Amino acid sequence: MMKTKIFHSEKDNIETLIAYAANILRQGGLVVFPTETVYGIGANALNPDAAHNIYQVKGRPSDNPLIVHVANEKDVSKYAQTITDDAMKLMEAFWPGPLTIVFNKQPIIPEAITGGLDTVAIRMPSHPIAKALIQEANVPVCAPSANISGTPSSTIFKHVHDDLNGKVDVIIDGGQSTVGLESTVLDMTTDTPVILRPGAITKSMIETIIKRDVIDTTVHITDDTIPKAPGMKYRHYAPEGDVTLLKGTHKNMITFITQQDQSIGVIGSNELCAQLSDYHTYPLGPKDDPELIARNVFLALRTMDEHNIRTIYVEAFENKELGQAIMNRLLKASNHTIIEV
Ligand code: AMP
Ligand code: MG
Repeated sequence: MMKTKIFHSEKDNIETLIAYAANILRQGGLVVFPTETVYGIGANALNPDAAHNIYQVKGRPSDNPLIVHVANEKDVSKYAQTITDDAMKLMEAFWPGPLTIVFNKQPIIPEAITGGLDTVAIRMPSHPIAKALIQEANVPVCAPSANISGTPSSTIFKHVHDDLNGKVDVIIDGGQSTVGLESTVLDMTTDTPVILRPGAITKSMIETIIKRDVIDTTVHITDDTIPKAPGMKYRHYAPEGDVTLLKGTHKNMITFITQQDQSIGVIGSNELCAQLSDYHTYPLGPKDDPELIARNVFLALRTMDEHNIRTIYVEAFENKELGQAIMNRLLKASNHTIIEV
């Protein structure tokens, strides 16, 4: 165990905390910081030993590559070869923000962070603390989600603190992540761009900018599908409790749930949860507010664990646009266990 320095962005002086954390990054330490997607655990991406510590702390398989975070577009050409016109357009449209682009890597990027691949995934986050930290550190920051590998990502300080206090040098509390789901990962190294992970920047948003089709490999992944992106084959986002998705009308969900024991937990829209006052529920937001539902979904899964709930039923949402990213995480968290009610 090490002593972890904790900062709260609401109370502490921002310049002081950024200077402290940036210095730790430059020296090869680990800093947990807020981003708009989920909290990240960051290290200097040019320092293979520092990056190695991320894998150790998270228990992350070494072939699951890390995303490199930059503070401005100009830095991309230092780490990526061949930035196509389409990649430029996407960066202009969606950066800073929740879109990660996969490029062919420059030799300066160590294979320790790309899982041995000759490509590198790069993103520019919009969260002011993330931006200021990367800017001040003056190094690219590789940062996967700040959770133990396989469990739901953390979107609030308490959850990163629970998992990582004593294991990293610094944790910065920056409030709740506003997007709540990890970034969209888009591979731009192939003739036709490929979505490797869905997120808040959706297929149609990308196609509108580059005016051509992209392939989405993330729909209908079953156990025997060969993983297209490194990391896709592993257990993901799963809380301690068993997750089952419920598909159907609210009326039928309520009939099903009210036949279950009261020790179960239910995660769903406000409209569903409002009708289940005898049960432990976590309302995510109104059914027609996918942004709010996305923001709360990991928080809800982790909260069920905090209440020691062993059986968790989750309302299945419409599998389109942002709903597709939400369902991607829920399908994995449930190991594709769905009951049609
Ligand atoms: P995390 O940071 O935990 O959200 O995980 C990073 C995600 O980015 C994983 O799904 C990786 O598979 C993906 N990723 C990172 N680098 C690459 C790369 N070079 N090629 C393809 N996918 C990547
Ligand atoms: Mg992750």
